[in-house]
Amino acid sequence: MSGTITIGSTGVLSGFVNSFAEEDVKLPFFFIGHGSPMNGIEENDYSNYWKALGTKLPKPKAILCISAHWLTTGTFVTAMETPPTIHDFGGFPKELFEVNYPAPGNPELATEIKNLITTTTVGLDHEWGLDHGCWSIVRHMYPDADIPVLQLSIDYSQSAQYHYNLAKQLASLRKKGVLILGSGNMVHNLGMVAWDRLNESFGFDWTLEMNDLFKQKITNSDHRSLINYDQLHSAVKLAIPTPDHYYPLIYTLGLQEANDAITFFNDQAIAGSLTMTSVQFGV
Ligand code: ZN
Repeated sequence: MSGTITIGSTGVLSGFVNSFAEEDVKLPFFFIGHGSPMNGIEENDYSNYWKALGTKLPKPKAILCISAHWLTTGTFVTAMETPPTIHDFGGFPKELFEVNYPAPGNPELATEIKNLITTTTVGLDHEWGLDHGCWSIVRHMYPDADIPVLQLSIDYSQSAQYHYNLAKQLASLRKKGVLILGSGNMVHNLGMVAWDRLNESFGFDWTLEMNDLFKQKITNSDHRSLINYDQLHSAVKLAIPTPDHYYPLIYTLGLQEANDAITFFNDQAIAGSLTMTSVQFGV
């Protein structure tokens, strides 16, 4: 006896495979505008909507976040048993730094996600955890922290088309009880934020124009225009000065199937140059 444990297609992992077996129910998935980290601890229109979603949706078996705040070279998925809460911001109140969201990870699901993606080699990550793009939303949705949460990184060396194609390979997760959340902001220009009107719900003219344009393209499933976003409009450089907060939207577009209904929520501009506009795909 060599004592070597092998894991192949012979069913050694059948217990796990069954726990994430495909079911008839296909979960909806979301692009969520996360905005300020303070939304993680504040009760406001945005966080109240997230909270309501958590009570309304069928309880997922796991959550996969694609956050604007985990940019890497190469694609990684968190694979630790207990992902730490990352406080990836500065200049906020102590209360925000004290947030701990102790949701478990799920290393087996991480391996499954790695295996689903065939166009690149996905790394199993043991260093990251849950950044505020993820926990600021999920802690409102599921305050008991009893659902495993994983994150998939965004390979920032790659194009929107690349991310769109990668997302398509995750489609089967919806039938396995995995709730997928893309977390960013469609319009996100920190350089032009009206810092003296930080909590005000208002947008500059170009912000509102771009918000309408994004919604129109999403409604029409005009994915090609949204992937080639740099040619979308003369104001796109203002709305998307860098694509970190936009790419999570691209992931959700890649996941969209023909019969997925589209519902917008938290459709507001804030502080001039940000939008919280969010999208539910599917019911
Ligand atoms: Zn952010």
